[in-house]
Amino acid sequence: SPRLILVLGDQLTPDLSALRGADPSRDRVVMAEVSDETGYVPHHPKKIALVLSAMRHFAEELRGQGWDVAYTRLDDPENAGSIGGELLRRAEEMGTSHVIATEPGEWRLIEALRELPLDLELREDDRFLASHARFDAWAEGRKSLRMEYFYREMRRETGYLMEGDQPAGGQWNFDGDNRQPPPREGADLFRSDPMSFTPDEITEEVLALVADRFGDNFGDLHPFDLPVTRAQARRALTHFIQTRLADFGPYQDAMLLDDPYLNHALISPALNIGLLDPREVCDAVQTAWEAGEVPISSAEGFIRQVIGWREYVRGIYFREGPGYPRRNALNHQRALPPLYWGAQTKMACLGAAVDQTKRLGYAHHIQRLMVTGNFALLAGIDPAEVHEWYLSVYVDAFEWVEAPNTLGMSQFADGGVIASKPYVSSANYIAKMSDYCSGCAYSATVKQGEGACPFNLLYWHFLTRHRARFEGNHRMGRIYSTWDRMDDKKREAILSEAEDFLSRLSGGEEV
Ligand code: FAD
Repeated sequence: SPRLILVLGDQLTPDLSALRGADPSRDRVVMAEVSDETGYVPHHPKKIALVLSAMRHFAEELRGQGWDVAYTRLDDPENAGSIGGELLRRAEEMGTSHVIATEPGEWRLIEALRELPLDLELREDDRFLASHARFDAWAEGRKSLRMEYFYREMRRETGYLMEGDQPAGGQWNFDGDNRQPPPREGADLFRSDPMSFTPDEITEEVLALVADRFGDNFGDLHPFDLPVTRAQARRALTHFIQTRLADFGPYQDAMLLDDPYLNHALISPALNIGLLDPREVCDAVQTAWEAGEVPISSAEGFIRQVIGWREYVRGIYFREGPGYPRRNALNHQRALPPLYWGAQTKMACLGAAVDQTKRLGYAHHIQRLMVTGNFALLAGIDPAEVHEWYLSVYVDAFEWVEAPNTLGMSQFADGGVIASKPYVSSANYIAKMSDYCSGCAYSATVKQGEGACPFNLLYWHFLTRHRARFEGNHRMGRIYSTWDRMDDKKREAILSEAEDFLSRLSGGEEV
Protein backbone atom coordinates (compact mmCIF):
# COMPACT_ATOMS: atom_id res chain seq x y z
CA SER A 1 0.00 0.00 0.00
CA PRO A 2 1.07 3.60 -0.50
CA ARG A 3 3.00 5.38 2.22
CA LEU A 4 2.64 8.86 3.55
CA ILE A 5 5.87 10.81 3.88
CA LEU A 6 5.67 13.62 6.37
CA VAL A 7 7.75 16.73 5.67
CA LEU A 8 7.66 19.31 8.46
CA GLY A 9 8.21 23.05 8.06
CA ASP A 10 11.78 22.84 9.34
CA GLN A 11 12.68 19.81 7.19
CA LEU A 12 12.78 21.41 3.76
CA THR A 13 15.61 19.35 2.29
CA PRO A 14 15.35 17.15 -0.82
CA ASP A 15 17.58 14.53 0.79
CA LEU A 16 15.57 14.36 3.98
CA SER A 17 15.80 10.90 5.53
CA ALA A 18 12.00 10.42 5.25
CA LEU A 19 12.14 10.89 1.47
CA ARG A 20 14.95 8.42 0.98
CA GLY A 21 13.98 5.29 -0.89
CA ALA A 22 10.42 6.44 -1.39
CA ASP A 23 8.60 5.99 -4.66
CA PRO A 24 7.04 9.11 -6.21
CA SER A 25 4.68 7.01 -8.32
CA ARG A 26 3.17 5.33 -5.28
CA ASP A 27 3.93 7.29 -2.11
CA ARG A 28 2.53 10.67 -1.15
CA VAL A 29 4.24 13.58 0.57
CA VAL A 30 2.21 15.27 3.31
CA MET A 31 2.88 18.89 4.20
CA ALA A 32 0.56 20.97 6.36
CA GLU A 33 0.36 24.49 7.71
CA VAL A 34 -1.49 23.98 11.00
CA SER A 35 -2.63 26.26 13.79
CA ASP A 36 -1.05 24.06 16.49
CA GLU A 37 2.35 24.89 15.00
CA THR A 38 1.74 28.54 14.20
CA GLY A 39 0.28 29.07 17.67
CA TYR A 40 2.16 27.12 20.37
CA VAL A 41 3.94 30.38 21.19
CA PRO A 42 3.26 33.87 19.78
CA HIS A 43 5.87 33.58 17.02
CA HIS A 44 7.37 36.66 15.42
CA PRO A 45 5.36 37.31 12.21
CA LYS A 46 8.55 37.13 10.10
CA LYS A 47 9.20 33.63 11.46
CA ILE A 48 5.73 32.41 10.47
CA ALA A 49 6.05 34.03 7.06
CA LEU A 50 9.47 32.47 6.49
CA VAL A 51 8.35 28.96 7.36
CA LEU A 52 5.10 29.08 5.37
CA SER A 53 6.70 30.65 2.32
CA ALA A 54 9.64 28.24 2.36
CA MET A 55 7.19 25.32 2.74
CA ARG A 56 5.16 26.44 -0.25
CA HIS A 57 8.28 26.91 -2.35
CA PHE A 58 9.59 23.51 -1.30
CA ALA A 59 6.29 21.80 -2.15
CA GLU A 60 6.56 23.30 -5.65
CA GLU A 61 10.09 21.99 -5.95
CA LEU A 62 9.00 18.48 -4.92
CA ARG A 63 6.12 18.56 -7.40
CA GLY A 64 8.60 19.60 -10.07
CA GLN A 65 10.56 16.45 -9.25
CA GLY A 66 7.46 14.34 -9.79
CA TRP A 67 6.21 14.00 -6.21
CA ASP A 68 2.56 13.94 -5.36
CA VAL A 69 2.31 16.46 -2.53
CA ALA A 70 -0.80 16.68 -0.36
CA TYR A 71 -0.40 20.24 0.85
CA THR A 72 -2.75 21.83 3.38
CA ARG A 73 -2.85 25.59 3.69
CA LEU A 74 -3.53 27.31 6.98
CA ASP A 75 -6.84 28.66 5.70
CA ASP A 76 -8.09 25.45 4.06
CA PRO A 77 -11.58 24.72 5.46
CA GLU A 78 -10.67 21.03 5.88
CA ASN A 79 -7.57 21.83 7.93
CA ALA A 80 -7.47 19.57 11.02
CA GLY A 81 -5.34 22.06 12.95
CA SER A 82 -2.52 19.73 13.96
CA ILE A 83 0.15 17.63 12.28
CA GLY A 84 -1.38 14.47 13.78
CA GLY A 85 -4.87 15.43 12.63
CA GLU A 86 -3.63 16.08 9.11
CA LEU A 87 -1.83 12.74 8.96
CA LEU A 88 -5.00 10.93 10.07
CA ARG A 89 -7.05 12.74 7.46
CA ARG A 90 -4.59 11.94 4.64
CA ALA A 91 -4.24 8.34 5.82
CA GLU A 92 -7.96 7.85 5.51
CA GLU A 93 -8.03 9.57 2.12
CA MET A 94 -5.29 7.26 0.81
CA GLY A 95 -6.47 4.12 2.57
CA THR A 96 -3.14 3.58 4.29
CA SER A 97 -1.75 3.69 7.79
CA HIS A 98 1.95 3.65 6.90
CA VAL A 99 3.72 6.92 7.71
CA ILE A 100 7.39 7.70 7.31
CA ALA A 101 8.74 10.73 9.17
CA THR A 102 12.07 12.26 10.06
CA GLU A 103 12.38 12.86 13.79
CA PRO A 104 11.01 16.31 14.68
CA GLY A 105 13.23 18.81 16.53
CA GLU A 106 11.14 18.97 19.66
CA TRP A 107 9.80 16.50 22.18
CA ARG A 108 6.29 17.94 21.96
CA LEU A 109 5.89 16.84 18.36
CA ILE A 110 7.76 13.55 18.73
CA GLU A 111 5.34 12.57 21.47
CA ALA A 112 2.32 13.69 19.44
CA LEU A 113 3.44 11.53 16.49
CA ARG A 114 4.09 8.51 18.65
CA GLU A 115 0.60 8.68 20.08
CA LEU A 116 -1.09 8.44 16.68
CA PRO A 117 -2.95 5.22 15.84
CA LEU A 118 -0.82 4.87 12.69
CA ASP A 119 2.04 2.67 11.65
CA LEU A 120 4.84 5.20 12.13
CA GLU A 121 8.41 4.79 10.95
CA LEU A 122 10.44 7.52 12.63
CA ARG A 123 13.83 7.99 11.01
CA GLU A 124 16.85 9.77 12.41
CA ASP A 125 17.40 13.34 11.26
CA ASP A 126 20.79 12.96 9.61
CA ARG A 127 21.12 16.58 8.56
CA PHE A 128 23.30 16.84 11.65
CA LEU A 129 26.92 15.72 11.91
CA ALA A 130 26.46 13.94 15.22
CA SER A 131 23.73 11.32 15.55
CA HIS A 132 22.17 10.76 18.96
CA ALA A 133 24.32 7.63 19.32
CA ARG A 134 27.45 9.59 18.41
CA PHE A 135 26.72 12.30 20.94
CA ASP A 136 25.88 9.80 23.66
CA ALA A 137 29.09 7.90 22.98
CA TRP A 138 30.99 11.12 23.60
CA ALA A 139 28.95 12.11 26.66
CA GLU A 140 28.79 8.73 28.37
CA GLY A 141 30.76 8.54 31.57
CA ARG A 142 32.02 12.14 31.48
CA LYS A 143 31.79 14.17 34.65
CA SER A 144 31.14 17.33 32.71
CA LEU A 145 30.04 17.88 29.15
CA ARG A 146 32.11 20.82 27.96
CA MET A 147 31.56 21.86 24.37
CA GLU A 148 35.26 22.36 23.67
CA TYR A 149 36.11 18.65 23.92
CA PHE A 150 33.15 17.61 21.82
CA TYR A 151 34.18 20.20 19.24
CA ARG A 152 37.71 18.81 18.97
CA GLU A 153 36.31 15.36 18.21
CA MET A 154 34.07 16.88 15.53
CA ARG A 155 37.09 18.65 14.01
CA ARG A 156 39.03 15.39 13.88
CA GLU A 157 36.09 13.49 12.42
CA THR A 158 35.20 16.02 9.76
CA GLY A 159 38.76 17.06 8.99
CA TYR A 160 37.79 20.74 8.90
CA LEU A 161 40.80 23.01 9.48
CA MET A 162 43.06 20.08 10.22
CA GLU A 163 46.65 19.44 9.20
CA GLY A 164 46.99 15.72 9.68
CA ASP A 165 45.84 15.09 13.22
CA GLN A 166 46.77 18.60 14.34
CA PRO A 167 44.56 21.69 14.24
CA ALA A 168 45.54 24.12 11.48
CA GLY A 169 47.44 27.08 12.85
CA GLY A 170 48.55 25.05 15.86
CA GLN A 171 45.56 25.87 18.06
CA TRP A 172 42.05 24.46 18.42
CA ASN A 173 40.60 27.76 19.44
CA PHE A 174 41.42 31.32 18.41
CA ASP A 175 39.21 33.12 20.88
CA GLY A 176 42.29 34.91 22.19
CA ASP A 177 42.66 36.72 18.83
CA ASN A 178 38.93 37.23 18.48
CA ARG A 179 36.42 38.90 20.80
CA GLN A 180 37.57 42.42 20.09
CA PRO A 181 35.55 45.54 20.90
CA PRO A 182 33.54 47.00 18.03
CA PRO A 183 35.39 48.46 15.05
CA ARG A 184 36.18 52.14 15.35
CA GLU A 185 34.04 54.66 13.56
CA GLY A 186 34.36 54.46 9.81
CA ALA A 187 35.35 50.80 9.72
CA ASP A 188 31.76 49.85 9.00
CA LEU A 189 31.94 51.75 5.72
CA PHE A 190 33.78 48.73 4.41
CA ARG A 191 31.31 46.21 5.66
CA SER A 192 28.52 45.23 3.32
CA ASP A 193 24.98 44.53 4.46
CA PRO A 194 23.50 41.05 4.24
CA MET A 195 21.71 40.18 1.01
CA SER A 196 18.08 40.99 0.78
CA PHE A 197 15.47 39.18 -1.31
CA THR A 198 12.35 40.70 -2.84
CA PRO A 199 9.20 38.67 -2.07
CA ASP A 200 7.79 36.80 -5.07
CA GLU A 201 4.11 35.98 -5.62
CA ILE A 202 4.13 32.99 -3.27
CA THR A 203 5.70 35.03 -0.50
CA GLU A 204 3.34 37.95 -1.07
CA GLU A 205 0.38 35.64 -0.61
CA VAL A 206 1.85 34.32 2.62
CA LEU A 207 2.59 37.84 3.84
CA ALA A 208 -1.06 38.77 3.39
CA LEU A 209 -2.17 35.70 5.33
CA VAL A 210 0.29 36.37 8.15
CA ALA A 211 -0.65 40.05 8.36
CA ASP A 212 -4.27 39.04 8.63
CA ARG A 213 -3.89 36.28 11.22
CA PHE A 214 -0.80 37.19 13.21
CA GLY A 215 -0.67 40.96 12.87
CA ASP A 216 -1.00 41.36 16.65
CA ASN A 217 2.00 39.17 17.50
CA PHE A 218 5.11 40.98 18.73
CA GLY A 219 7.34 41.82 15.76
CA ASP A 220 7.32 43.66 12.44
CA LEU A 221 6.30 41.62 9.42
CA HIS A 222 7.55 44.24 6.96
CA PRO A 223 9.99 44.67 5.41
CA PHE A 224 10.36 40.96 4.67
CA ASP A 225 13.51 40.12 2.74
CA LEU A 226 14.67 36.72 3.99
CA PRO A 227 15.79 33.93 1.66
CA VAL A 228 12.92 31.45 1.26
CA THR A 229 14.45 28.93 -1.14
CA ARG A 230 17.58 26.88 -1.16
CA ALA A 231 18.96 28.79 -4.14
CA GLN A 232 18.49 32.11 -2.34
CA ALA A 233 20.02 30.78 0.87
CA ARG A 234 23.07 29.62 -1.11
CA ARG A 235 23.51 33.07 -2.59
CA ALA A 236 23.26 34.65 0.85
CA LEU A 237 25.87 32.22 2.18
CA THR A 238 28.29 32.93 -0.66
CA HIS A 239 27.82 36.65 -0.18
CA PHE A 240 28.59 36.35 3.54
CA ILE A 241 31.74 34.34 2.89
CA GLN A 242 32.96 36.80 0.28
CA THR A 243 32.18 39.98 2.17
CA ARG A 244 31.92 39.49 5.94
CA LEU A 245 33.53 36.23 7.04
CA ALA A 246 37.10 37.56 7.06
CA ASP A 247 36.32 39.82 10.02
CA PHE A 248 33.84 37.47 11.67
CA GLY A 249 36.33 36.38 14.33
CA PRO A 250 37.48 39.72 15.68
CA TYR A 251 34.02 41.27 15.82
CA GLN A 252 31.81 38.31 16.74
CA ASP A 253 31.20 39.63 20.26
CA ALA A 254 30.88 43.32 19.40
CA MET A 255 27.59 45.23 19.47
CA LEU A 256 26.71 48.44 17.64
CA LEU A 257 23.52 50.46 17.87
CA ASP A 258 23.40 51.23 14.15
CA ASP A 259 24.60 47.86 12.92
CA PRO A 260 22.57 44.90 14.11
CA TYR A 261 24.45 42.43 11.91
CA LEU A 262 28.14 43.37 12.03
CA ASN A 263 30.02 40.40 10.59
CA HIS A 264 27.49 37.73 11.43
CA ALA A 265 26.25 35.24 8.84
CA LEU A 266 22.48 35.37 9.36
CA ILE A 267 22.21 31.81 8.20
CA SER A 268 20.53 30.24 11.23
CA PRO A 269 16.96 30.49 9.86
CA ALA A 270 17.97 28.83 6.56
CA LEU A 271 20.06 26.20 8.36
CA ASN A 272 17.38 25.37 10.87
CA ILE A 273 14.59 24.90 8.35
CA GLY A 274 16.73 22.82 6.00
CA LEU A 275 17.51 25.25 3.18
CA LEU A 276 21.20 24.93 4.00
CA ASP A 277 23.12 21.94 5.26
CA PRO A 278 25.78 22.44 7.95
CA ARG A 279 28.31 20.48 5.91
CA GLU A 280 27.93 22.61 2.82
CA VAL A 281 28.28 25.73 4.97
CA CYS A 282 31.52 24.45 6.51
CA ASP A 283 32.81 23.18 3.16
CA ALA A 284 32.42 26.66 1.74
CA VAL A 285 34.25 28.21 4.70
CA GLN A 286 37.03 25.61 4.46
CA THR A 287 37.43 26.41 0.74
CA ALA A 288 37.66 30.15 1.40
CA TRP A 289 40.29 29.52 4.08
CA GLU A 290 42.31 27.20 1.81
CA ALA A 291 42.23 29.86 -0.90
CA GLY A 292 43.70 32.35 1.57
CA GLU A 293 40.60 34.54 1.47
CA VAL A 294 39.92 34.44 5.21
CA PRO A 295 42.25 34.09 8.21
CA ILE A 296 42.28 30.96 10.33
CA SER A 297 40.95 32.86 13.36
CA SER A 298 37.73 33.76 11.55
CA ALA A 299 37.33 30.41 9.80
CA GLU A 300 37.89 28.59 13.10
CA GLY A 301 35.60 30.90 15.10
CA PHE A 302 32.85 30.31 12.58
CA ILE A 303 33.24 26.56 12.10
CA ARG A 304 33.25 26.11 15.89
CA GLN A 305 29.76 27.64 16.04
CA VAL A 306 28.41 25.27 13.41
CA ILE A 307 30.09 21.91 14.08
CA GLY A 308 30.69 22.65 17.77
CA TRP A 309 27.97 24.68 19.45
CA ARG A 310 25.10 23.87 17.12
CA GLU A 311 25.66 20.11 17.26
CA TYR A 312 26.48 20.15 20.96
CA VAL A 313 23.30 21.95 22.07
CA ARG A 314 21.22 19.56 19.99
CA GLY A 315 22.96 16.62 21.64
CA ILE A 316 22.21 18.05 25.08
CA TYR A 317 18.55 18.73 24.24
CA PHE A 318 17.87 15.15 23.22
CA ARG A 319 20.05 13.62 25.92
CA GLU A 320 18.42 15.57 28.75
CA GLY A 321 14.89 14.56 27.77
CA PRO A 322 11.46 16.19 27.51
CA GLY A 323 11.57 17.85 30.95
CA TYR A 324 14.56 20.02 30.05
CA PRO A 325 12.65 23.21 29.12
CA ARG A 326 10.97 23.21 32.52
CA ARG A 327 14.11 23.17 34.65
CA ASN A 328 14.67 25.96 37.13
CA ALA A 329 17.81 25.13 39.12
CA LEU A 330 18.13 28.63 40.59
CA ASN A 331 14.45 28.75 41.49
CA HIS A 332 13.89 32.08 39.74
CA GLN A 333 10.24 33.18 39.88
CA ARG A 334 9.95 36.79 38.75
CA ALA A 335 7.63 37.46 35.81
CA LEU A 336 9.18 38.57 32.52
CA PRO A 337 8.93 42.38 32.54
CA PRO A 338 6.98 44.14 29.78
CA LEU A 339 10.14 45.78 28.45
CA TYR A 340 10.86 42.44 26.72
CA TRP A 341 7.71 42.99 24.69
CA GLY A 342 8.70 46.51 23.74
CA ALA A 343 7.60 48.61 26.73
CA GLN A 344 9.75 51.70 27.28
CA THR A 345 13.00 51.28 29.19
CA LYS A 346 15.73 53.72 30.18
CA MET A 347 18.38 51.05 29.74
CA ALA A 348 19.80 51.77 26.30
CA CYS A 349 21.27 48.30 25.73
CA LEU A 350 18.04 46.45 26.51
CA GLY A 351 16.03 48.97 24.52
CA ALA A 352 18.30 48.48 21.49
CA ALA A 353 18.32 44.68 21.68
CA VAL A 354 14.55 44.45 22.04
CA ASP A 355 13.84 47.06 19.37
CA GLN A 356 16.10 45.26 16.92
CA THR A 357 14.45 41.96 17.80
CA LYS A 358 11.02 43.43 17.13
CA ARG A 359 12.06 44.91 13.78
CA LEU A 360 14.15 42.03 12.49
CA GLY A 361 13.42 38.88 14.47
CA TYR A 362 17.19 38.80 14.82
CA ALA A 363 19.81 39.54 17.43
CA HIS A 364 23.27 38.07 17.41
CA HIS A 365 24.65 35.76 20.04
CA ILE A 366 26.16 38.30 22.42
CA GLN A 367 23.03 40.45 22.37
CA ARG A 368 20.99 37.38 23.32
CA LEU A 369 23.49 36.14 25.89
CA MET A 370 24.99 39.23 27.48
CA VAL A 371 22.17 41.78 27.19
CA THR A 372 18.66 40.25 27.32
CA GLY A 373 19.86 36.94 28.79
CA ASN A 374 22.25 38.46 31.32
CA PHE A 375 19.57 40.86 32.54
CA ALA A 376 16.93 38.12 32.93
CA LEU A 377 19.37 35.96 34.89
CA LEU A 378 20.53 38.78 37.16
CA ALA A 379 16.95 39.89 37.78
CA GLY A 380 15.83 36.33 38.59
CA ILE A 381 13.21 35.97 35.86
CA ASP A 382 11.37 32.64 35.67
CA PRO A 383 13.37 30.68 33.05
CA ALA A 384 10.20 29.16 31.59
CA GLU A 385 9.06 32.68 30.66
CA VAL A 386 12.49 33.56 29.32
CA HIS A 387 12.43 30.36 27.24
CA GLU A 388 9.02 31.17 25.83
CA TRP A 389 10.21 34.66 24.90
CA TYR A 390 13.27 33.45 22.98
CA LEU A 391 11.24 30.72 21.30
CA SER A 392 8.76 33.35 20.14
CA VAL A 393 10.77 36.33 19.02
CA TYR A 394 13.63 34.96 16.90
CA VAL A 395 13.14 33.81 13.34
CA ASP A 396 15.66 31.01 13.92
CA ALA A 397 14.02 29.70 17.12
CA PHE A 398 13.25 25.98 17.22
CA GLU A 399 13.20 24.20 20.55
CA TRP A 400 16.15 21.82 20.08
CA VAL A 401 18.49 24.79 19.64
CA GLU A 402 16.70 27.53 21.55
CA ALA A 403 16.04 25.66 24.82
CA PRO A 404 19.60 24.58 25.60
CA ASN A 405 20.90 28.02 24.68
CA THR A 406 18.31 29.79 26.82
CA LEU A 407 17.81 27.51 29.80
CA GLY A 408 21.28 26.04 29.85
CA MET A 409 23.81 28.48 28.52
CA SER A 410 22.05 31.71 29.34
CA GLN A 411 19.90 31.11 32.46
CA PHE A 412 21.85 28.34 34.24
CA ALA A 413 18.45 26.72 34.78
CA ASP A 414 19.86 23.25 34.06
CA GLY A 415 22.19 23.64 37.04
CA GLY A 416 25.38 23.65 34.98
CA VAL A 417 24.98 20.92 32.37
CA ILE A 418 26.05 23.34 29.63
CA ALA A 419 27.72 26.29 31.36
CA SER A 420 30.51 25.78 33.86
CA LYS A 421 29.58 29.09 35.44
CA PRO A 422 26.71 31.50 34.95
CA TYR A 423 27.05 34.01 32.11
CA VAL A 424 26.64 37.14 34.20
CA SER A 425 28.43 40.44 33.97
CA SER A 426 28.19 43.93 35.34
CA ALA A 427 27.91 46.97 33.07
CA ASN A 428 31.60 46.91 32.28
CA TYR A 429 31.34 44.14 29.69
CA ILE A 430 28.55 45.83 27.73
CA ALA A 431 30.32 49.21 27.93
CA LYS A 432 33.49 47.69 26.52
CA MET A 433 31.89 45.61 23.77
CA SER A 434 29.27 48.06 22.49
CA ASP A 435 28.42 51.68 21.85
CA TYR A 436 25.11 51.41 23.74
CA CYS A 437 26.17 53.08 26.97
CA SER A 438 27.03 56.53 25.60
CA GLY A 439 23.36 57.34 25.02
CA CYS A 440 22.02 55.77 28.22
CA ALA A 441 20.19 57.35 31.15
CA TYR A 442 22.35 55.26 33.49
CA SER A 443 26.09 55.26 33.76
CA ALA A 444 28.11 52.10 33.30
CA THR A 445 30.94 53.45 35.45
CA VAL A 446 28.71 54.33 38.40
CA LYS A 447 28.62 51.32 40.69
CA GLN A 448 26.08 52.55 43.19
CA GLY A 449 24.04 55.64 43.99
CA GLU A 450 22.69 58.25 41.56
CA GLY A 451 22.81 57.04 37.95
CA ALA A 452 24.25 53.61 38.75
CA CYS A 453 23.70 51.14 35.92
CA PRO A 454 21.24 48.44 37.06
CA PHE A 455 23.63 45.77 35.75
CA ASN A 456 26.14 46.90 38.41
CA LEU A 457 23.60 46.58 41.20
CA LEU A 458 21.99 43.34 40.06
CA TYR A 459 25.31 41.66 39.43
CA TRP A 460 26.15 41.67 43.14
CA HIS A 461 22.58 40.92 44.11
CA PHE A 462 22.68 37.78 41.97
CA LEU A 463 26.06 36.67 43.33
CA THR A 464 25.09 37.15 46.96
CA ARG A 465 21.71 35.47 46.63
CA HIS A 466 23.35 32.42 45.04
CA ARG A 467 26.53 32.47 47.08
CA ALA A 468 26.06 28.99 48.52
CA ARG A 469 25.93 27.52 45.04
CA PHE A 470 28.71 29.47 43.35
CA GLU A 471 31.38 30.43 45.85
CA GLY A 472 33.01 27.01 45.66
CA ASN A 473 33.29 27.31 41.85
CA HIS A 474 36.99 27.82 41.21
CA ARG A 475 36.28 30.26 38.39
CA MET A 476 34.26 32.50 40.69
CA GLY A 477 36.25 32.57 43.90
CA ARG A 478 38.02 35.83 43.00
CA ILE A 479 34.72 37.60 42.42
CA TYR A 480 33.53 36.70 45.90
CA SER A 481 36.77 37.91 47.45
CA THR A 482 36.36 41.25 45.65
CA TRP A 483 32.90 41.51 47.16
CA ASP A 484 34.14 40.56 50.62
CA ARG A 485 36.82 43.23 50.51
CA MET A 486 34.29 45.96 49.80
CA ASP A 487 33.29 48.34 52.51
CA ASP A 488 30.24 47.15 54.52
CA LYS A 489 28.26 50.29 53.90
CA LYS A 490 28.86 50.09 50.17
CA ARG A 491 27.75 46.48 50.06
CA GLU A 492 24.57 47.25 51.96
CA ALA A 493 23.82 50.19 49.68
CA ILE A 494 24.32 48.10 46.53
CA LEU A 495 22.02 45.36 47.77
CA SER A 496 19.30 47.69 48.93
CA GLU A 497 19.40 49.69 45.68
CA ALA A 498 19.18 46.41 43.79
CA GLU A 499 16.15 45.38 45.88
CA ASP A 500 14.57 48.70 45.19
CA PHE A 501 15.20 48.35 41.46
CA LEU A 502 13.72 44.84 41.41
CA SER A 503 10.55 45.91 43.18
CA ARG A 504 10.08 48.77 40.70
CA LEU A 505 10.68 46.30 37.88
CA SER A 506 8.09 43.90 39.23
CA GLY A 507 5.70 46.75 39.96
CA GLY A 508 5.61 47.52 36.25
CA GLU A 509 7.46 50.84 36.52
CA GLU A 510 9.63 52.00 33.65
CA VAL A 511 13.22 51.17 34.60
P1 FAD B 1 26.64 33.58 13.45
O1 FAD B 1 27.16 34.31 14.62
O2 FAD B 1 27.05 34.09 12.13
O3 FAD B 1 27.05 32.04 13.63
C1 FAD B 1 26.99 31.12 12.55
C2 FAD B 1 26.10 29.95 12.86
O4 FAD B 1 26.58 29.20 13.95
C3 FAD B 1 24.68 30.30 13.23
O5 FAD B 1 23.89 30.52 12.10
C4 FAD B 1 24.21 29.10 14.02
O6 FAD B 1 23.67 28.14 13.18
C5 FAD B 1 25.49 28.59 14.64
N1 FAD B 1 25.55 28.97 16.05
C6 FAD B 1 26.24 29.99 16.61
N2 FAD B 1 26.12 29.98 17.95
C7 FAD B 1 25.29 28.96 18.25
C8 FAD B 1 24.77 28.44 19.45
N3 FAD B 1 25.08 28.97 20.64
N4 FAD B 1 23.93 27.40 19.37
C9 FAD B 1 23.62 26.84 18.19
N5 FAD B 1 24.10 27.27 17.02
C10 FAD B 1 24.93 28.32 17.04
N6 FAD B 1 20.34 29.88 17.64
C11 FAD B 1 19.38 29.38 16.85
O7 FAD B 1 19.66 28.95 15.74
N7 FAD B 1 18.08 29.34 17.26
C12 FAD B 1 17.70 29.82 18.48
O8 FAD B 1 16.52 29.79 18.83
C13 FAD B 1 18.69 30.37 19.33
N8 FAD B 1 18.36 30.87 20.56
C14 FAD B 1 19.33 31.39 21.36
C15 FAD B 1 18.97 31.87 22.62
C16 FAD B 1 19.92 32.40 23.46
C17 FAD B 1 19.54 32.89 24.84
C18 FAD B 1 21.27 32.45 23.05
C19 FAD B 1 22.33 33.00 23.95
C20 FAD B 1 21.63 31.98 21.79
C21 FAD B 1 20.68 31.43 20.93
N9 FAD B 1 21.03 30.92 19.66
C22 FAD B 1 20.04 30.39 18.87
C23 FAD B 1 22.43 30.86 19.20
C24 FAD B 1 22.92 32.05 18.38
O9 FAD B 1 22.65 33.25 19.07
C25 FAD B 1 22.32 32.10 16.98
O10 FAD B 1 22.53 30.86 16.36
C26 FAD B 1 22.96 33.16 16.12
O11 FAD B 1 22.83 34.42 16.73
C27 FAD B 1 22.33 33.15 14.74
O12 FAD B 1 22.77 34.23 13.96
P2 FAD B 1 23.84 34.10 12.80
O13 FAD B 1 23.39 33.12 11.79
O14 FAD B 1 24.13 35.48 12.31
O15 FAD B 1 25.06 33.49 13.60
